[in-house]
Amino acid sequence: MRQTRTVQVAETIDALRTARASLGGSVGVVLTMGALHDGHLALVEHARADNDAVLVTIFVNPTQFSADEDFDQYPRDLPADLDRLRRAGVDLVFTPTPALMYPPGFQTDVTVSAVTQRLEGEKRPGHFRGVTTVVAKLFNLTQPTRTYFGQKDAQQVVVLRRMVRDLNFPLQLVVCPTVREPDGLALSSRNVRLDPHQRAEAVKLAQALRAAAEHHAAGERDPDALRAAAHDVLETIAGGRIDYVSLADVRTLEEQTTPTDAPLLLSLAATFGGVRLLDNALLPAHLNDRDGLTATLGA
Ligand code: AMP
Repeated sequence: MRQTRTVQVAETIDALRTARASLGGSVGVVLTMGALHDGHLALVEHARADNDAVLVTIFVNPTQFSADEDFDQYPRDLPADLDRLRRAGVDLVFTPTPALMYPPGFQTDVTVSAVTQRLEGEKRPGHFRGVTTVVAKLFNLTQPTRTYFGQKDAQQVVVLRRMVRDLNFPLQLVVCPTVREPDGLALSSRNVRLDPHQRAEAVKLAQALRAAAEHHAAGERDPDALRAAAHDVLETIAGGRIDYVSLADVRTLEEQTTPTDAPLLLSLAATFGGVRLLDNALLPAHLNDRDGLTATLGA
C-alpha cells in the first residue's frame, strides 16, 4: 500500500481488500482507464456527494482492445491522475496491472448477448466481452454501494445494466451526463491525439446531435428524418469518416423503424485519422440529465 498524502493506493488484490474493508458506510465506485479529465472528475464528484467514501480504479484493460486497436497508444499518466484524485478527495485508488487481473491460467468470461452485437459491438468484435468481464471482476473486488458511469459510453451502460440485472450485482448503477468542451465536443482521453484540424471538425458530432434534437423538439418523430438531420451535419466533416448514425430503442438497441414518443438513443461514431470518437444523446432531450439518464439507462 502506498500513501500519496491522503489518498491510499492499492496495487495488489490483498491491499485492495484490506483497504476496502476499512472504508465505512456507503462506497461510491468509479471505474476508469486513467488519463483522467473533467468527465471522470465529474463522476467522482457525483460519487462523493452520494456516499461516505469514494474508490476509483485505474486500469487500461487489454482484453477490450483488439489487436489492431490503440492499447499501446492509449494515454497513461498515473502521477497526474493520482494528484487529481487526491485533490478531488478520493479515499482509495486501485491500480492493478494486467498480470494481476489476468494471471496465467485465467479462462473465465462474462458475456452479455444481444445488446453487445450492435453499434460498437458490431464494429469492435469482442470489445464488450472484455468490458463485462473486467467490470464484473472490478465490481467483485471493490463492492460498490453505487457505481457511476458516463453517458458518453451509452452502449456500455446499456450492456452493464443488463449484466447487473442478470447477475444480481447488489449495487446501484448511476448514469451521469456527458461533460463537454465549451464548443460541445465531448471530453475523451483520446481527444489529445486529434490534430488541430481534426479537433475543429470533431465538434460536428455534438452539432449533429443538436440538429436531431431540434427536429425532435419541433415534433419530428420519423426515425429516418431524425437520423438524416444528424447525418447531414456529419457529412460536412472534412478529413474524417462517419462510422454510424443510429437511432435505437434504449433497451434493445434495435434500430427504430417506426415513429414513437418512447425514449430513444441517438448514437454517432466517426474516425479522424486513427482516432475513433463517439457521442450520443437521449431523445427527448430533457432526459439528458442525471435523473433522466439513470431512470432510462441505469439499474
Ligand atoms: P474511460 O476511462 O474512458 O474508460 O471512462 C471511464 C468512465 O468515465 C466511463 O464511465 C465513461 O463513460 C466516463 N466518461 C468518459 N468521458 C466522459 C465525459 N466526457 N463525460 C462524462 N463521463 C465520461
